[in-house]
Amino acid sequence: MSRSAHPAGPRHADVLPEGHYSAPPADLNTLDGKVWAQTVTRNADGVLTVGGVDVVSLAEQHGTPAYILDEADFRGRARAWRTAFGNDADVFYAGKAFLSRAVVRWLHEEGLNLDVCSGGELTTALSAGMPADRIAFHGNNKSTEEIRRAVESGVGRIVLDSFQEIVRVAHIAQSLGKRQRVQIRITVGVEAHTHEFIATAHEDQKFGIPLADGQAAEAVRRALQLDGLELIGIHSHIGSQIFDMSGFEVAAHRVVGLLKVIRDEHGVELPEIDLGGGLGIAYTSDDDPREPHEIAKALTEIVTRECEAARLSTPRISVEPGRAIVGPTAFTLYEVGTVKPLDGLRTYVSVDGGMSDNIRTALYDAEYSVALVSRASDAEPMLARVVGKHCESGDIVVKDAFLPSDLAPGDLIAVPATGAYCRSMASNYNHVLRPPVVVVHEGESRVVVRRETEEDLLRLDVG
Ligand SMILES: *Cc1c(COP(=O)(O)O)cnc(C)c1O
Repeated sequence: MSRSAHPAGPRHADVLPEGHYSAPPADLNTLDGKVWAQTVTRNADGVLTVGGVDVVSLAEQHGTPAYILDEADFRGRARAWRTAFGNDADVFYAGKAFLSRAVVRWLHEEGLNLDVCSGGELTTALSAGMPADRIAFHGNNKSTEEIRRAVESGVGRIVLDSFQEIVRVAHIAQSLGKRQRVQIRITVGVEAHTHEFIATAHEDQKFGIPLADGQAAEAVRRALQLDGLELIGIHSHIGSQIFDMSGFEVAAHRVVGLLKVIRDEHGVELPEIDLGGGLGIAYTSDDDPREPHEIAKALTEIVTRECEAARLSTPRISVEPGRAIVGPTAFTLYEVGTVKPLDGLRTYVSVDGGMSDNIRTALYDAEYSVALVSRASDAEPMLARVVGKHCESGDIVVKDAFLPSDLAPGDLIAVPATGAYCRSMASNYNHVLRPPVVVVHEGESRVVVRRETEEDLLRLDVG
């Protein structure tokens, strides 16, 4: 049993038995389109290319490790989500998955909205020209200063997360002579992850106001009374890396139940419902994510059906995919430094990054794939573990994967599906410098977040 923490609760950690791994693929040179960015392919020399640029030149020009992000793929996925939900729903990209000014501009251009959850994310969004009314502000402990800036800049909604915050936001809005549009985040007792979900009456986590014991209804009652607030809807976010829609079904049923209570008690039909994010992507060939249009159809049907049953007009839906948009669009490019075969066990492959650029394996027991990308190889597969350069034995990037047995120092390998929660969770552990984000598009590459330098480190260390 894993003891790793998971953002949506301990039961979410992967539960594969120790030593579990699937059989080696028939051809290690094959790049599964499910886990790689859209424009990825191998050229005639066997070198991986993305956005028309090959990884050997990318490594020469930008160094390793580096996150390589496919702009066409990002825009394509953003557009697919936008189109799938049409004009009767809103798509908010969850900025915490990965946020940079280039990403904000693409989202703006593709007609998406944006979730932020800190002053830093808000500043990034505004500085890249995202209209404030298309920004939602999240977080379970927003500071007074963050709330003031959010209200002043005119964000489209603040998602209230506690009883204290209801009063705090109302007070700040009123003192600024404003009426702030808000949603209330509730916890509905549904914990969803990948292929299963757990429905209970209570939920043991820090986010939101429990539906249980009438707490959410009480929160609504208070919000409706405060002049500084315009309550536009209810928010629910049930987990992460979800493939199965049935958790959303239970969540929507419970949220609509609350809308009905609000209508019956206050004569108010709240116009919006936000179902959160958490839609899964393929990290390995074993994962089978659904397409945005299938998800949109399923969620819209669920909400419409529940509202009809409750004799409520269907509210406007919003969703907040983060990982499902940016996750598959990037891979991390590493150079192999050492190859250490341990007889009868596996071969440890050390790369020039590690848990500082991808903490998800150590934190959530996440699974990743990996491929040799600077050349093709016909060598036999070897069971490998890709590890980083940090002073920590848990510094694992890919726990179990097959790589060609002729792998050698100087080869480039790449870990796909690292667009979400890798650069955004990167650290300076061991004073290792955080890698750049390099965008590739139509034969060109450009840095959108530069590599950290030792001067950057010393600038913060004021001695
Ligand atoms: C994290 C989060 C998301 C995005 O989750 P993904 O798994 O990246 O889709 C959306 N909404 C809220 C409230 C979140 O906390």
